[in-house]
Amino acid sequence: MEIKNLVRKNILNLQPYSCARNEFKGEARVLLDANESPYNSPYNRYPDPLQIAVKEKLANIKGMKPEQIFLGVGSDECIDLVYRVFCVPGVDNVVAIDPSYGMYEVCADINDVEYRRVPLTDDFGLDIEALISATDAHTKAMWICSPNNPTGNAFSLDEIEAIYRRFNGILVVDEAYIHFSAKGSMLSRLNKMPRLIVLHTLSKAWGSAAVRLGMAFASTEIISIFNNVKYPYNINLLTQQYVLNRLERRAEVEAQVKALLDARKKLEAELAPLPFVLKVFPSDANFLLVRTTDADGIYRFLIERGVIVRNRNRVSKCLGCLRITVGTPDENNDLIENLKEYGK
Ligand SMILES: *Cc1c(COP(=O)(O)O)cnc(C)c1O
Repeated sequence: MEIKNLVRKNILNLQPYSCARNEFKGEARVLLDANESPYNSPYNRYPDPLQIAVKEKLANIKGMKPEQIFLGVGSDECIDLVYRVFCVPGVDNVVAIDPSYGMYEVCADINDVEYRRVPLTDDFGLDIEALISATDAHTKAMWICSPNNPTGNAFSLDEIEAIYRRFNGILVVDEAYIHFSAKGSMLSRLNKMPRLIVLHTLSKAWGSAAVRLGMAFASTEIISIFNNVKYPYNINLLTQQYVLNRLERRAEVEAQVKALLDARKKLEAELAPLPFVLKVFPSDANFLLVRTTDADGIYRFLIERGVIVRNRNRVSKCLGCLRITVGTPDENNDLIENLKEYGK
């Protein structure tokens, strides 16, 4: 299946907006082409619409070409673009594992695209046969989140590739939590899988949720279509400057990831023996999914004490479950001390 057969006709035929900063590239002494103010440099100028400096640095880190990278306002923008580029509203559908990240369905609803949920197995594994059976000629994309939110587990790369080999549409693998997993990234297989899109984000391990930067990695063909559809200056200059700086501090981020992995292990060991904890699910992420005897009660009890966790009690396959982010050692101790008071 060729990419262009998966793209909506109006998008394929689109004449994209050509901004001043695209038409003229190079060094100039006098810039009078974009109706900007000449004052308050450098913020008076429109930013680089393709964020080349950031992409070159990222390409270096991730081992790929800058043309294989799309930058969005959070992963949210990348998720929305999958629908806007590939799915005809009211006609096409997508398939997704269930439970998984809520934004896939919200964006499907906003774009009027049918969202087909395929349950994970009882131990949160992929049901490959069911995923493939759920597809039809109008299935343009499939969502796999690995490590998965809220279940916390990562899937094997071979299983994900097996799905790709049997499905003719766009396979999106959301790796927001990849830094916390030992199972590896699908980025290593990007070059042999032209219908694959891998999502990463600055919001988790990179510690920069506030700046809103998401990344999509894919074939140059897919990335150039994303670039045609996005708002011309989606990533502002403040963000581009911040990210260039942040990417210099990889050693710091790696140390934080290591600290969080140690803290996850400790938290897991402290949660498991609590009398109301039925199961702490194995995690490849920076959070733990915990099955309890009374998720609603514990959730409310913790709120009264100023500790907020995520109640997943009403999410499919997550009956009784709370999702707990791994914090600093102090924060984790605070949580555990409070939980020891529950039911007393
Ligand atoms: C947190 C999270 C993201 C990050 O989204 P941003 O818009 O980049 O902040 C993406 N996917 C999943 C599954 C997440 O849990």
